[in-house]
Amino acid sequence: MSLEFPSGPVPIDSELYIDRPPVEKLAFEALEKPGSVIRIRAPRRTGKSSLLLRIMNRAAEIGYYQAWLDFQRADESIFENLDKFLRWFCATISLQLKRPPLLNDYWDEDIGSKVSCSLYFQGYLLEQLDRPLVLALNEVNCIFEYSKVAADFFALLRSWHEDGKQVAIWRNLRLVVVHSTEIYIPLNINQSPFNVGLPIKLPEFNLQQVGELSRRHNLNWGDCSEENSEAKRLMAMVGGHPYLVRLALYHLSHQQMNLDRLLNEAPTLSGIYQDHLRDQLTTLQKDPELAGAFQEVIESESSIKLKPVLAYKLNSMGLVKLEGDRVTVSCNLYRLYFQDRELGWDRLSDRLARLQQTNQELYQLVNIDDLTQLANRRYFDREFQQKWQESAIAKTPLAAIMCDIDYFKNYNDTYGHQAGDECLQKVAQAIRHAIGRSTDFAARYGGEEFIIVLPGTDAFSAFYLAEKIRETVKMLRIIHQKSTLADRIVTISLGVACTVPDLETEAKQLVQAADRALYQSKKEGRDRVTVSDSFDYGLLE
Ligand code: GH3
Ligand code: MG
Ligand code: MG
Repeated sequence: MSLEFPSGPVPIDSELYIDRPPVEKLAFEALEKPGSVIRIRAPRRTGKSSLLLRIMNRAAEIGYYQAWLDFQRADESIFENLDKFLRWFCATISLQLKRPPLLNDYWDEDIGSKVSCSLYFQGYLLEQLDRPLVLALNEVNCIFEYSKVAADFFALLRSWHEDGKQVAIWRNLRLVVVHSTEIYIPLNINQSPFNVGLPIKLPEFNLQQVGELSRRHNLNWGDCSEENSEAKRLMAMVGGHPYLVRLALYHLSHQQMNLDRLLNEAPTLSGIYQDHLRDQLTTLQKDPELAGAFQEVIESESSIKLKPVLAYKLNSMGLVKLEGDRVTVSCNLYRLYFQDRELGWDRLSDRLARLQQTNQELYQLVNIDDLTQLANRRYFDREFQQKWQESAIAKTPLAAIMCDIDYFKNYNDTYGHQAGDECLQKVAQAIRHAIGRSTDFAARYGGEEFIIVLPGTDAFSAFYLAEKIRETVKMLRIIHQKSTLADRIVTISLGVACTVPDLETEAKQLVQAADRALYQSKKEGRDRVTVSDSFDYGLLE
């Protein structure tokens, strides 16, 4: 006998379908109840679609009409808005019932898409059918991502279920809703189909079921309840996960390897689970937050609490088990495989580092002048105000040096804008190097003007620093043929002002004083420093 490779739902006639009592029986019974809703929730690859297949097969046997919708296969564009989605929904079902989709006969903008959809469903579909219609909605979790469409659509399904209590024809509608995650979108409980009908959580295989499956694979495993039995050893690695168990049994029954080797290689990339593990890894790597959360799960010996959305997503992938609001890794296979794979993990510390990096970049963007890399005018305006107040309170002097490049328009005209930019950068660098204390700061005040703010510095020290900057710029010896000054190099003029601030005086007055002093330097022949006498030089009496 050739056993089929485990992929996709287990075919109806397969011997390898293991019943998980009482799940199938309950579902079949519910199917025949008027207006019923069956909800199946279980992680990926644990047999949801196989069960759905059997429910639908039963529906066919008892002569019900049926329509299938698999939201995983739907185009993303249908989720754009509710109208588009409901039209797709009605059209798809009509076609499956072999009826031409006459949507426009029922759709009316004035009454809205939900009412149009209901009228269509009732008038055009249900009333034309002489027997119940079973609607299988598979991978409903795909709609969760589109929370607005989801809320409206689920409310609509719920209203149809409620209609069944009054309008007989709606009782002919039977819903089977299948999803792999918990519902993590907020839904009004009275408008949600997820708290009515029969809930089915597909359990994992138990030891007996794994034993039964091994027999159906013609494996001679003996009594699985014995200590260290093959079934127990396999389950120590993969738990009762239906797909993982079946894949192992498939390989064992084809005698490509024995159980020891299979288990040894299982958590590696040369083992039988390599494709599955790589899939899981890829999914995690696409979502660093999810990966980081799973890393935390693996590193913890006991169950931990995660953000619900993350817990549900990991659970839908089958990587964790949910226990109330806590999670644990679902089986040893995942712990062993993922604990060696640091790559791409988003640990809390990495996340923090990235956040700090982003912060730093934003700070740059907002506060730093692109060309000169000095603080920009915005930063100056805020910070200068702050220093003024601090100095006023501490009664310490505050000095400002304003500087301006001489004949800079001429320089630009002679050497071009780009050379002008480079000149600005060099002068800015000279200024940056000249200021030493961490409380001092220099900013680009405007075009070719810079301002230096020096807390706790009196006029004489500020003058000394201004002279130093002037000298440093000259030492750069940037040729400027059109300068009228003797050396024909780029020079700067500076103005210094200083005072011990008080809170009655406006901060900008100090800047104005420094600017007037700068103007004085220009007037007296440039390439010099002038100290403003509008203020008290910052000397305390
Ligand atoms: P003065 O000696 O009196 O200061 O004369 P000046 O030519 O330096 O002064 P003016 O204010 O007339 O010219 C300033 C020039 O600075 C005009 C403008 O082209 C130039 N400028 C301003 N910002 C930039 C810039 O970001 N890059 C360049 N390359 N030039 C700039
Ligand atoms: Mg100038
Ligand atoms: Mg200027």
